[in-house]
Formats: sequence, C-alpha cells, structure tokens
Amino acid sequence: ATPTALMVGTGRGAQLGILIRGPEVLESTRRVDTIVLDKTGTVTAGRMTLAGITTAPGEDRDEVLRLAGALESASEHPIAQAITKAATERGAATERGGAAERGAGPGSAAGAGSVADAGSVAGLPGIEGFAGIEGLGVQGVVDGRAVLVGRPRLLAEASQHLPVELERAVAEALARGETAVAVGWDGKARAVLTVADVVKPTSAEAIARLKRLGLRPVLLTGDNQAVAENVAASVGVPVEDVIADVLPAGKVDVVKRLQAEGRVVAMAGDGVNDAAALAQADLGMAMGTGTDVAIEASDLTLVRGDLRVAADAIRLSRRTLRTIK
Ligand code: ADP
Ligand code: MG
Repeated sequence: ATPTALMVGTGRGAQLGILIRGPEVLESTRRVDTIVLDKTGTVTAGRMTLAGITTAPGEDRDEVLRLAGALESASEHPIAQAITKAATERGAATERGGAAERGAGPGSAAGAGSVADAGSVAGLPGIEGFAGIEGLGVQGVVDGRAVLVGRPRLLAEASQHLPVELERAVAEALARGETAVAVGWDGKARAVLTVADVVKPTSAEAIARLKRLGLRPVLLTGDNQAVAENVAASVGVPVEDVIADVLPAGKVDVVKRLQAEGRVVAMAGDGVNDAAALAQADLGMAMGTGTDVAIEASDLTLVRGDLRVAADAIRLSRRTLRTIK
C-alpha cells in the first residue's frame, strides 16, 4: 500500500464527514464483518424526554422532580438531562402559575417547588457529595436528604424496595418501550420516572446499508431488554443480536467474546461507558456528537453522528485499498 493512495482515502473521508486517526485504520475497516452498535446516543438520538411520573402513596410529585432534577444536574447522561430539564421547566411553571396550579388532577405535577434555592441549576437546590454509579444511576445529598436515582435494581440493592404501585409503573414503562428510573431518598423508594428516547431517523437506513455490505449488526446496551428489543425491531436488528442489561465494564467483554468467535468487530458508540469497548474493537467508531472520551478511544469519528456514514467509511476503505493493491 502506498502512503499517497492511503492519504487520498483519508482526504475523501474528511469530505464525507469521517475523521480517520491514521491511514493504517483503513486496513481494519476493510476487514470488519460485525458491527456492535451502542443504543443510546448512537442508534437513538439520546435526547430523552420525561414521559411520566408515578409516585408512591403519600409522595409529592414536585418534590420528587425537584430533588431528582437537582441531583441529575451533575450527570451528563441523557436520562439525567431529561430529568433536570423537566424539573427546571416545572419549577419555572410553578413560579409563574402560582396557586392556580395547585390541586390539579393526578396527571399534573402540581404543588410546592416555588422556592428557588441557590443551586447549580436555576430554581433547583444545590447538591453535596455527588457520585455517579456507572451504568446504574446517581447519588448525592440534596436539601439534607440522601437521594438515589437510577435503575430500579440500584434502589433494590440499596434496600429501597419498590412498593407495588411503583413496580407496576416499571412494568408498564417496559411494555411501552420506555426506560424506568426510580427515585428514592432516606432509605425509601419514592417514585418512578419514565423517560423515552427516539430512534434517529437515519438509523434504519444505516443498518440496512451495513447489512448490504455483509456486516452483522449487534445492538448493545446497558438499558433493559424490552426497550432494546423495541429499538432493534424498528431498525432491523434481529432479536437474537440484541445484548441488553450490560454494565459499562461488560461492553468490552462482549466485543472480546465476538472476537474470540473469530469475528472482526467494529463498534460504534458515543458514551464514556463505550470507551473501553471502542478501544478493544478492531475498528472503533465514535459519534462526533458524543463524549471526548469515546472520540479519543476510537479509530474513526463520524463527525455528524450519522450512522449512515459508518457504511460510507467501510465502502470507502474497501474501495481505497482495492485501488492500491
Ligand atoms: P447505554 O448503554 O444505553 O448508553 P448506560 O450504560 O449509560 O446506557 O446506562 C444504563 C442504564 O443505567 C440506563 O438505562 C439507566 O437506567 C441507568 N442510568 C445510568 N446513568 C443514569 C443517570 N444519571 N440517571 C438515571 N439512570 C441512569
Ligand atoms: Mg451511549
């Protein structure tokens, strides 16, 4: 392979919106036969919105949203952003609407929350001792309460067992393909928030193109099986190639396992939790819209975060190397 021809290939890559770490990357790009796709932020937009709140008996919706929103303001996770945004908007609406909002039906989040404490985000209380629990949730002290927000499993493991009302909310969220996030403080589960993400409009076409290039797509996520299967069905990934409920540290093991089966593995991801898997893959592809950690761990960056460009990258490398040989 002549260096000049390889550089031409990488120059064309830049035009397509692909940043290539070095010309040697094209060789592994050409050989990949499997592409592992992170779900959140890669196949889906990763811009979640709060879809619902279910409180345990006696709990106040606004209080739940205020404490959870404050805590999540310290996290960069798309789920966290959705919760903080809803809490901020709710706080502003309550301040504007005042008493008129109170006493509304169960479908609304009426009540307290009009006090704007000095916090990291306007209208939300400040936090102390924040800690992210990778792939599970967040914890910290808000308004003197030890708050935990994350997967229902995280709360259960902290002995904050979900009462039947909340268990039902979790099951219903799963059936709708939404993600359920539990909120608890001071040793007790208080509410379940549900968040929904949207599949990127380009994902189905991208996966169809990757399949036409002979690649086997695998959907990999820390999210639950039901949500993952829903997304897989809408983008054309077969259900047997859905790998869900994987902790961040487990993502790299999935890539290793596929490699041990003799596969040449590309991985596309965006998150901090994808970095090790991106580095382990024969070809790591980061979404340009993703975190710096993911970009640094990758061989290629898809500048606009458009997965169709992953197919372009593979076609380009095959063509470039054919020209050289
Ligand atoms: P993915 O692999 O889809 O990008 P992650 O590994 O980042 O997902 O997260 C897995 C799960 O952990 C999420 O679906 C969510 O239930 C929970 N989780 C992670 N971070 C947070 C957070 N900041 N707040 C609430 N839940 C979280
Ligand atoms: Mg992700």
